[in-house]
Amino acid sequence: MKTIILPVTWEVCGFVKVEAHDIESAIELFNENPDSIPLPKESEYVDGSFALTDSDPEFVKLYNSAERAELTTSSETSGNAFEFDRLRAHIDHNIAIAVYGDNVNISVECTDCNEVLYSVDNPLVGIS
Ligand SMILES: [Zn+2]
Repeated sequence: MKTIILPVTWEVCGFVKVEAHDIESAIELFNENPDSIPLPKESEYVDGSFALTDSDPEFVKLYNSAERAELTTSSETSGNAFEFDRLRAHIDHNIAIAVYGDNVNISVECTDCNEVLYSVDNPLVGIS
């Protein structure tokens, strides 16, 4: 058995407040420049939205190159711009550490984004 990295996507929904004269202009304002409006602090998972980002094996291979696999599993990610930006997005968010199964996995999660920031499996589970 090998550990394969699969790119996944899921949706969350929430609410934002915008200043406008009426509902129509609020909708227009949002649609004109959605990136100018901050993401909601609280959001909920959209049921059934969890899916592979791409099912093309050739695309998935990009995430499983030796270099990429090392980046994703290594705790020494200093100087990695991708990791830096990924974590910087959660500044001032509520971070929690959770244990899954019977000490099978520990995850550091952003409870505002429902996003796993770091996850590690117990190396002793499954060995007997
Ligand atoms: Zn976050």
